[in-house]
Amino acid sequence: MIQAADNYSNIRQEIDRCAKKHGRDPKEILLLAISKTHPWGRIEPVYGAGCRAFGESKMQEALPKIAEAPQDISWHWIGTLQKNKVRKAIGVFALIHSVEDLALAQKISECSKEKGVETHVLLEVNTSGEATKHGLKEEEWQEVFQEVVALPNLVVEGLMTLGPHVSDSEVIRASFRSLRMLKEALNGLLPKEKQMHHLSMGMSGDYLIAVEEGATIVRVGAGIFGMRR
Ligand SMILES: *Cc1c(COP(=O)(O)O)cnc(C)c1O
Repeated sequence: MIQAADNYSNIRQEIDRCAKKHGRDPKEILLLAISKTHPWGRIEPVYGAGCRAFGESKMQEALPKIAEAPQDISWHWIGTLQKNKVRKAIGVFALIHSVEDLALAQKISECSKEKGVETHVLLEVNTSGEATKHGLKEEEWQEVFQEVVALPNLVVEGLMTLGPHVSDSEVIRASFRSLRMLKEALNGLLPKEKQMHHLSMGMSGDYLIAVEEGATIVRVGAGIFGMRR
């Protein structure tokens, strides 16, 4: 799968060019390679091309893969996280992108406290209003935000969204823009040392729009590894 390594390098360069064109520092944008469904053998060439951050969404698939892979990788959790799987994720994933409500944040906080670690998370926002999407809506997060950031052993690094499932790029852009504006609004409620820095948005079809709108993490699967079966 040398192709995947080339894809990774090309997308990285494309992101760098797009960032510079919009007055952004490319170094502040992480290209997270979404490796779900792919065995380590297919992921390794992308690691060889310099990628050190991969995203997974199924626990029984991710844990053996992580055990097999080199230690210098940051693994991110991007999938739905069931409460009974939280304990398994704590201490394994560098960042959990998909905290979809207050109850899940509380559970992560509780388990992290038990294990004596801090867990870094993003709050998943349903910016499109699509019923299939997880995460609270903007105004729902605003209601519980103070409670979430006060939870012990939980560090809220930012927000995550999935763009709407449409072809109109302006509709997608509006969704990413609303995530950025929500981050700014919520940061206004936080002291300086607790400011959130991350916006995880953009996938294979829309990562450049996301970079233009301020993404700090783009999550690209098919664009790197090809279509999933
Ligand atoms: C699968 C997945 C991606 C990657 O999607 P592609 O279209 O393959 O780039 C990104 N984010 C989440 C949450 C996913 O589940």
